[in-house]
Amino acid sequence: MFEHKAQFLKRKELKRVQLSKLRRIVSYAYQNVPLFKKRFNEAGVKPGSIRTLDDIEKIPFTVKNDLRDNYPLGVLAVPQTRLYCLHASSGTTGKPIIMAYTRGDLERWSKLMGRSFDVAGVRRGDVVQNMFGYGLFTGGLGFHYGARAVGATIVPTGTGNTKRQLMLMKDLRSRVAASTPSYMIYLCEASRIEGYEPKVDFAVKVGIFGAEPWSEQTRKRIEDVFGLRAHDIYGMSELYGPGVAIECEQRNGLHVWGDEFLVETINPDTGDVLEPGKEGELVFTMLSREAMPLLRYRTRDLSRVFEEECACGRYHPRIQRIKGRSDDMLIIGGVNVFPSQVEHVLMNIPTLGDQYQIIVSHAELDRLAVKVETTPERVNDPNLLKQIQSDLLAVLGIRADVQLVELGTLPRTEVGKARRVIDLRTKE
Ligand code: ADP
Ligand code: ZN
Repeated sequence: MFEHKAQFLKRKELKRVQLSKLRRIVSYAYQNVPLFKKRFNEAGVKPGSIRTLDDIEKIPFTVKNDLRDNYPLGVLAVPQTRLYCLHASSGTTGKPIIMAYTRGDLERWSKLMGRSFDVAGVRRGDVVQNMFGYGLFTGGLGFHYGARAVGATIVPTGTGNTKRQLMLMKDLRSRVAASTPSYMIYLCEASRIEGYEPKVDFAVKVGIFGAEPWSEQTRKRIEDVFGLRAHDIYGMSELYGPGVAIECEQRNGLHVWGDEFLVETINPDTGDVLEPGKEGELVFTMLSREAMPLLRYRTRDLSRVFEEECACGRYHPRIQRIKGRSDDMLIIGGVNVFPSQVEHVLMNIPTLGDQYQIIVSHAELDRLAVKVETTPERVNDPNLLKQIQSDLLAVLGIRADVQLVELGTLPRTEVGKARRVIDLRTKE
């Protein structure tokens, strides 16, 4: 097993490690990053004020804009000559955020990814097909480092190029598939179109999927087609990249590697810390990051934290499957709607295809439209339409105009994260 001792730290030991690392990183960040010194001083907090784990509440939050405002490398805690590599977030609007790593950071990240692979059942010599994008995006290289750490055989196919992807998956007998869930769902369909019989032609037994929200129903669909076991993995560029948290064999929440990250949930509106089990915004403190320490970083991701020991024997706290980013929340006629809720409803209806689209518009009132694929003979089925409408109403609390379209008509995601929401209101 990879890093067995760290994986199975007892609660007391874990807390002890957390506190000593927290105290060290707080004074390190204070001394080496002007932004933190300024924030601490403004809040009247000294590094020495942090004596217990609960004292973390005294530390001011860090937000995405702090990093953006200091573009490109204004939050470094080390001289630039000590940097081993750089990454960047996709930065859909404006300047991206640059992530910096020392060699030590890279080793830590690799180990966390290695542990995550280990937890998912990846072993030395396993063929790992890495379908995450290589480059500035942390997904590709993050998975690459993890596979290397556990001694797996890496097939770095990266994103897209689906025909070749499937050919290699078959011919190289890939045992592990790593990708976004939306790409894997696409491969379910593409493999049939290309004439494969996934369970017979492919040897994929482990799936590691993340980087975007997905539902339990989507997991089932992928597992049924490929005959694999899928694990949800969470991370973000600012927190090294992927490998912050992963599902163990229990798949009852994702274990956050507690010896490297402190996780909290807060009320996103007030900043108040929430009790374990309550839904809120995830906030992470990196306990050993050298190049770019981050204290109480607000992710905007919504989830819950559970502290109890897991049936797997690990004490690393668990987070619930991510509901979505607060930025992804749609407010439709005053009602909050998460795209993940729509997915949950649709993927629960077996006669519907895997692809859907959410369209929000405004004509006097906000309107929610949902397009979803089904077989040609069901496209005009009024009962199916009614069922979707009433299921959506029950979960969302608002009415949606549902449109059934034929399989193969909606756009597919072959590269990057799925874009299933079209909000026309901003343009109108
Ligand atoms: P970018 O911010 O450029 O899209 P990142 O890789 O940093 O690139 O994205 C991180 C975000 O991806 C997270 O904050 C979260 O919203 C989402 N994400 C990552 N993993 C998961 C997951 N397993 N489930 C749901 N969302 C995820
Ligand atoms: Zn567990």
